[in-house]
Amino acid sequence: MGRYTGPSCRLCRREGVKLMLKGARCETAKCPLERQWRNNPPGMHSWRRRRSSEYGIRLREKQKVKRYYGIFERQFMRYFSMAERQKTNTGAALLGLLERRLDNVIYKLGFAPSRAAARQAVSHGHVYVNGRKVNVPSALVKVGNKITVKPSDKSKNLIKQQMEELGEPHVQNWLSLDITKLEGLVLAMPSRDDVTIPVEENLIVELCSK
Ligand code: SF4
Repeated sequence: MGRYTGPSCRLCRREGVKLMLKGARCETAKCPLERQWRNNPPGMHSWRRRRSSEYGIRLREKQKVKRYYGIFERQFMRYFSMAERQKTNTGAALLGLLERRLDNVIYKLGFAPSRAAARQAVSHGHVYVNGRKVNVPSALVKVGNKITVKPSDKSKNLIKQQMEELGEPHVQNWLSLDITKLEGLVLAMPSRDDVTIPVEENLIVELCSK
């Protein structure tokens, strides 16, 4: 699967929310969204743009979620059709599936400063699930899965270094972390409240169901 390689802050400025794509920098005053003169959509004459249409509002919600989790349209629509097949609320099911991605879990455990860094750590083989190497960032974790770091000095040092830069991790309730062993455990399925980005998932469902 491809990945976006352009400027990250541009995406946040387009969506008007902090998508936390650059790790520790996102928490500092260097974030463009913290600066008044940069807190506007990218592009020339962006201030001239007119109000969004109904379609535009729904499209922005979808784009926001795709950019937050670092996925493209095709993969997103695959998650959407998986969510539609579930018996629960489609919007909540969609966000639940995205939260369960292995790269997102690595980020939420504090093993990496951003989802992009987490994705790289997974695809470079630094992450094990239930004792076996998993190098697919889109793999979905299940309750009871144990996430560990590859038992090599190189991998452990890399993750430790990234964790030190981030400081004390705030692990959500559906996960648990043993810092000394560099070991995470999936305790439950993520709930809607575990999705921290402000998003109206019902608008995405309205857009994608057509
Ligand atoms: Fe850039 Fe991070 Fe701020 Fe987004 S949240 S604009 S990626 S510094």
